[in-house]
Order: sequence, then structure tokens, then C-alpha cells
Amino acid sequence: MKTGNANRTTLFKPPGSFHAIGVALICLSIAVVVGFRRSAAPVAAQNFDLVILNGRVIDPESKLDAVRNIGVRDGRIQAVTTKPLNGRTTIDAKGLVVAPGFIDLHEHGQIPENYRAQAMDGVTSSFELEVGTADVDRWYAEREGKAAVNFGVSIGHIPTRMAVMNDKGEWLPSGPAATRPATEAEIDELKKRIERGLNRGAVAVGFGPAYTPAASHWEIQEMFRVAAKNNAPSHVHLREAREPAIGALGEVIAAAAITGAPLHVVHINSTGTQWTPRLLQIIGEARSRGLDVTTECYPYTAGMTRIESALFDEGFQQRLGVDYKDLQWPETGERLTPETFARYRKQGGGVIIFSNTDEMVRVAVTSPLTMIASDGIAFQNGKGHPRAAGTYARILAQYVRKEKSLSLTDAINKMSLMPAQRLERRAPVMKNKGRIKVGADADIVVFDADRVTDKATYDRPTEYSEGFKHVLINGVAVVKDGKLQEGLTPGRAIRAPIK
Ligand SMILES: [Zn+2]
Repeated sequence: MKTGNANRTTLFKPPGSFHAIGVALICLSIAVVVGFRRSAAPVAAQNFDLVILNGRVIDPESKLDAVRNIGVRDGRIQAVTTKPLNGRTTIDAKGLVVAPGFIDLHEHGQIPENYRAQAMDGVTSSFELEVGTADVDRWYAEREGKAAVNFGVSIGHIPTRMAVMNDKGEWLPSGPAATRPATEAEIDELKKRIERGLNRGAVAVGFGPAYTPAASHWEIQEMFRVAAKNNAPSHVHLREAREPAIGALGEVIAAAAITGAPLHVVHINSTGTQWTPRLLQIIGEARSRGLDVTTECYPYTAGMTRIESALFDEGFQQRLGVDYKDLQWPETGERLTPETFARYRKQGGGVIIFSNTDEMVRVAVTSPLTMIASDGIAFQNGKGHPRAAGTYARILAQYVRKEKSLSLTDAINKMSLMPAQRLERRAPVMKNKGRIKVGADADIVVFDADRVTDKATYDRPTEYSEGFKHVLINGVAVVKDGKLQEGLTPGRAIRAPIK
């Protein structure tokens, strides 16, 4: 390598000096000798920390889909090339797909157990943007240096409303934050706290008027004004599910149009159910009129949320289009009755809701408008919803490989580049994620497209996905040869610039 450089340098020196000619001759002779001795040696050999060789590299931004070698140094991609590369560690990716690590914009389970399952599912960055937090600094401090994957959060209207109104609910409101309209003074206080959260680097503002039904249109709009001022996308769980969701979508599209805040509608599948095609149509039409509206979905027919939340207030059967028998208590696996529903609602906890069809989930997953986001929930004693551990492998296994209803490139785009682009105006660090390019963060998945499969089920929701051979986070292999490397915490905080 040095020889080559020296040789090249001499070419640019003005000829005529004996010294220069002498150096050139010496260098040339060394180059010839070295060249012969290393005829099969790497051309672009540099001291890479790690190289990934001969993989099928798919980069949704440049549309690259070809066999390439990748060189990683200092946690970044430093080479994407057809030339041979050398590194201290070599990953042989022959026959495997090499893609940008998946970015999950909607994962409530921001705990080590969930991070591990996500890494095994190809996820390299995990965000909690729907519910978010009321204390951005504390949220990041609790995870700094302890996370297997990158992590980020929104300042959440829901938890902030709970704090301001002194709602004692666990995670989601179960008291005044759900049931009481805010006073003018409280709306001012909410705005102040949302602004403070954004100043501390929250990457978005989270909303869930379905969980805070007493929040007026004006209150939501006031929060959107703060989001707009800070270029922050508003991630919203719409006020209503099913057909009324068309009005609920109108509420936030209007708020986005009026205030200028970017809008991201979460889990269009579980909110839209049989009306999903109409919600998608409306989002497409709003976009065609120049509004910055995006959406996401997860590949399961059941949802999950807290049974004591406002979602299950009087009349939930009509609102959600489900009956007691469509509700499953994860701890026991039992389907509910009016009696057990009443008992568990008093007790509180997560409940699984079977409310959608495979057909509607397919409509959501295959729409060009949707990103994939898991909506995973923190595992508790090995119980939860399989989406936390299996979402990304399920997209690749079910929709790309089995059904062929989604191309591999489109799937990767929905799981990496699109979510990176959703956040990058607010959090410029995201410009270096979701891409395989020189200078990008080395968040990379290497997987077997013929075998990758989700293993998590409603009964065994924590089962790791299979087929992700290597998962690098900032250049560190958290998954190696298909096995989780315990105890590694290369995940970094992803924040917007702090004011
Ligand atoms: Zn939600």
C-alpha cells in the first residue's frame, strides 16, 4: 500500500531532478517486486476493522443490487467495492444479502430483553415515538452505554398530559389524562414541556388521542404548532379506529396542513382494519397535494394494548369491531368473556386484540406508502406480542419469499431507508443510517433470504427470528453466525441537535 502511494506521488513531481528520478526508480522496483509477490493480494487493502466479502449488497438509496465487498473502520462504512479487501475480521457473505440495518420507529419495549430480540430480527435502531416519554434527558440517560441497538425517543403528549394532570395510570392514562379536557393553563404547560423535550433532542412528538379522548382538536393542534416550529414529525395513534378513523385521520391531516408539522400515522393496519385501503388512499391524496404525511404498519392481524386504557371504555366493541372472544389474555392464553374482561380491566395489563384480517394486513404491508414498524411491547416474564421479536423476519419470510407480494428491495426500503428519511430533517444523524454507502454508520444486516423466518408466536412471543447471520451495530457484531453475542452494548443514543 505504501509503495503504491509513494509511486503515485512521484508521478506528480516535476521531472528532471536526479533525486526524484532515483526515488521513482527505487519505488518502481519495489512496486514490481511487491506486485509480483502479491499478485493475488487485495488492491485496496487498508486496515479495516472488519470486511464483509462477496455479499449481495442491496442499498435502497442508490438502488445498488450487486455483489460487493464492504470495509468497516471506526464504526463506519469506509469502502463499498468490487475490489478485494482485507480486515482484522472477515465475514464471508457469499450467497447472503447485505443490507442497511432495520430501523424500527415504533417499539415500546425499550429494555435490554427487547433490544436483544430486535437485534436477532435485524433491527439496528429502535425508537419509541408513539407514546414517547415526558422526560427526554432521563430516558436517554437510562439507556446510555447499556443498549445492544441504537435508540431514540419522542417527547410524548400522552405521558406529558399524564404528568401535568397527575394521572396515575401505568404507561397509558387510566384517569384524568384520558377523561378530562385540559384548561387553557394546562395546554400552555403541555406546550412548554413539549418544547423543552424537543430542545433536549427528542426526535419527534408522540400522540395518541385514542388514549386521551378528552384532548380537544384545539389541544392537539396547539401541540402540532410546537412540533412544526421544531421540524419534528408528529407520530399519531389516531383518535378512532375503523370507519370513524377517516374523520380521525382528517383531524391530524388538517392539523398538519394548518400548522406545517410533518405527520406520521402509526400502525395504519390496526387502526384501519377493513378501512385500511381508504386511509391509505387519503394519505396518498394528501401527499399528492404536497403535505408531508407518512405511515407505517406491522405484519400481524392482532394488536396489543393496556386493557384499562380508554380504548376499552364503554362501546369498545363497536369502536374496535371486536367482541370479548377476540381478546386474549397473554399470561394464560385464554379468550375473554364479559366476566373475565371486567376482572382484568380492574387488575390492568396488556391484552391481545384479534381485530384484523390477513387481507387487510397485506394491503398495508404491500402499499408503497407504508414503512414497517413493529409496535412491539416490553416483554414481561416471557409474555407479550410476537411483533416485538418477529416483525422484520416475518416481512421477509411471508411477503417477500412465500407470497412474493413484495420485492426484496421494496421490503428493505420500507425497513431501513424510509424510516431514516422520516427522521433525518429533524435528526440529521439519520442521514448516515438506512444506507450502504461510504461514510454511513456501519449498521448492517447480513441475512439468508432463502431461510430468514420469524419464530415468535402469540404463545411464545419472545422466540428469536432465524436467518439473520450477522447484525452489526456501529461496526460491532451483536449477532454473529446467527447467534446473539451476549453482553455487547454498542447501541448509541439517536437525538436531534440539543439546544
Ligand atoms: Zn398505538
